[in-house]
Amino acid sequence: MQDPIRCHCLCGRVQLHASQPPTNGAHCHCENCRRAHGAAFVSWLCFDADAVEVFAGEQEFATYVTETDAQRRFCTNCGTTLTFASERWPGSIDLAMANIIDPVPEVEWRHTYADRDPEWSKGLDGLKRCGGPDGMQPLP
Ligand SMILES: [Zn+2]
Ligand SMILES: [Zn+2]
Repeated sequence: MQDPIRCHCLCGRVQLHASQPPTNGAHCHCENCRRAHGAAFVSWLCFDADAVEVFAGEQEFATYVTETDAQRRFCTNCGTTLTFASERWPGSIDLAMANIIDPVPEVEWRHTYADRDPEWSKGLDGLKRCGGPDGMQPLP
């Protein structure tokens, strides 16, 4: 078997391994993703559920079941949301791309629920870009 695609939370206690390449990717703009991650949108990499295992931190890997019956799993120590699964997409699990530490094969990406953006997150591409040590220096 090839090396797994590894993923971990901010504190590193919860570690997941995917033994197969992802099937596709989605930048999800739905309200639940926005709230669960505190972000304008969430970038998910989708895998066959059978290919993903909890490598470490099972005791700290909690599940929040939403009112739409989706399972959003997170680390109880650091609060990082790591996975999404729902019976609406049986046999599939999404891993938050931001937590993946290995290079991943190219997949097709799309924006989902792209019509749900609130006013404050529209047109982000057009904003001034800053960087440097404090993140605030204008970039060319
Ligand atoms: Zn953690
Ligand atoms: Zn979503």
